[in-house]
Amino acid sequence: MGSSSALDPDTLPHPASHPLAVRLHPPAERAVRDGHPWVFETGIRSVELTGRTGDQGQSEENGRPGAGDTAVIFDRKDRFLAVGLFDPTSPIRIRVLNHGEPAQVGAELFRNRLTQALRRRASLSDDSQTTGYRVVHGEGDGLPGLVLDRYGDQAVFKLYSPIWLPHLREVVPAARDLLRSSTVLGLVSRNLADERLCPAPLRRGAVLSGKNATGPFPFLESDLRFEAHPVEGHKTGFYLDQRDNRRRLEPRARGARVLNVFSYTGGFSLYAARGGAREVISVDQSGPALRQAERHFELNVQAARDTRHRTMEGDAFHIMRELAAGGERFGVVVVDPPSFAKEASQIDGALEAYARLTILALAVLEPGGLLVQASCSSRVSADDFFGRVHRAVADGGRSLVDQHRTGHPVDHPATFPEGHYLKCLFARIE
Ligand code: SAH
Repeated sequence: MGSSSALDPDTLPHPASHPLAVRLHPPAERAVRDGHPWVFETGIRSVELTGRTGDQGQSEENGRPGAGDTAVIFDRKDRFLAVGLFDPTSPIRIRVLNHGEPAQVGAELFRNRLTQALRRRASLSDDSQTTGYRVVHGEGDGLPGLVLDRYGDQAVFKLYSPIWLPHLREVVPAARDLLRSSTVLGLVSRNLADERLCPAPLRRGAVLSGKNATGPFPFLESDLRFEAHPVEGHKTGFYLDQRDNRRRLEPRARGARVLNVFSYTGGFSLYAARGGAREVISVDQSGPALRQAERHFELNVQAARDTRHRTMEGDAFHIMRELAAGGERFGVVVVDPPSFAKEASQIDGALEAYARLTILALAVLEPGGLLVQASCSSRVSADDFFGRVHRAVADGGRSLVDQHRTGHPVDHPATFPEGHYLKCLFARIE
């Protein structure tokens, strides 16, 4: 269990009282006009500080723009284009909050965005069997660079950009009141943790409001009992984005031996078990994740009563090769690796890694078995991913019959090209 401290958002710097006036180069201007939420450093022609003495808000003494300052973007003819938040630390220099018309950056705007986000997720917030889901998915919910996940009556913010630091004093109470959260925890992305301006407590996860609790946070997903460990875990402690794919797997696991590769804390494993899998093997390189998978089985004894579960810790590629060599065969293989392409230069390598995993999965699949393979690399397009998996199968002299190609669930809306990261294939091997 990680030790976290409290951070009173009121101690954070105030946003600057005067906005920045920003002008762009033509391609960036076109992108913003088309609704893109990012303005890159290279797209910026000029940044003007309006009416500042230089001692307000995040702005440094020398009057430079600070993280989270409001940026009002104008076109070449000085017509209003968009309003966003300025980030001096990132190549994504501005994240747009509102396109096409001015908006006052502050509590009311944030509350409206949260309300809209909850409305969009009515199918989840009305479902008493699913109490863990994403409430805010950054750009997809008009709060760029900000994530808010709900685990029962606890809430976890994750900041992917320092633009949110001066606005937490308004965002946190709005979220707490709307979600009626007993605890609001704050986390930051790895990049942000390395920034000088990140308050020290947030680097390790800090309580922003309410009860001093840092997890585990219990919740239900489709009436299965899980626990999120926000501080030690990945993302905010659970891969909420795979819920629909796990649901799709459940009825297809009856009577099968299931191999869940890159299992993390066993999300797919539990659904397979409830679906009546004879045996489930969870494979991951992380010991703590596998121990949590075992804990999830203990929490769901009744749902998993027909299933023998075991874990294998180590490198997935190596373990799959060993299983194949040992003659082990499975009716279902789930392959859900981490993002292999963080940069454009890694796309080809990522596609090759997906292909290798497909070939390894084929080697342990029974004839007629089900392959469930996912990619969470936003740089790899859905067409390239599905195409590469099919080609790998064809190269092995086999064929694959697609059952489903899935994308983003309702609580992870993808509204711009770079936002589309998740794709998953359900296919039978012939
Ligand atoms: N399917 C999971 C999420 C998987 S995230 C779920 O539904 O919750 C990716 C997982 O891959 C992480 O748990 C990470 O520990 C694991 N991982 C990364 N590289 C690995 C490797 N080479 N071998 C085995 N596991 C690996």
